[in-house]
Amino acid sequence: MLDDDAARLQARGYRLTGPRRVIIAALRDAGRYCTASQLYERLRGRSVGLASVYRTLELLADLGLAERRAEAGGEGSFLYCSPRHHHHVVCTGCGTVREIDACPGDDLARAVERETDFRIDRHKLDFYGVCAGCRTTG
Ligand SMILES: [Zn+2]
Ligand SMILES: [Zn+2]
Ligand SMILES: [Zn+2]
Repeated sequence: MLDDDAARLQARGYRLTGPRRVIIAALRDAGRYCTASQLYERLRGRSVGLASVYRTLELLADLGLAERRAEAGGEGSFLYCSPRHHHHVVCTGCGTVREIDACPGDDLARAVERETDFRIDRHKLDFYGVCAGCRTTG
C-alpha cells in the first residue's frame, strides 16, 4: 500500500513526493530486483531523472522499504519489500520474486542456536525455484 509507504517515509521525516511515489510504485510493480537504470527504463516518459531514481532507491533501502543486493558488476539492485515479516521465493528463470508469509521461524532458530551457541535475533531466508509461468513456457 502506498499509504503505508507514505507513513513509513513520514515517520522518518521524509515526504512522499510525486517522483518518490512514482518510483516506489514502479519498484513494487516490477516484482523483482531492479537496478536504478533498469527502473529508470521502466519509467521512461514519466519525467523522473536517473539521479533521483538512484537517490530514492538508496533511501528506500536505508528505510527498510527495499532490499539491496550487490550485482556482479558492483551495481546495486533493489527489491520492494513490505513492512511485515516475510520471506522470498525467487524464480531462477525469469527473476520474479514473491513474498511469502510461511516462516520456519523459531524452530529453525533454536536448531541454529543449538548448533552454534549463538543467540539468534533475526533471520533472512529466500527460496529459489522455477515459477509456474516458466515451467509451462520452458
Ligand atoms: Zn521482501
Ligand atoms: Zn519464472
Ligand atoms: Zn521468518
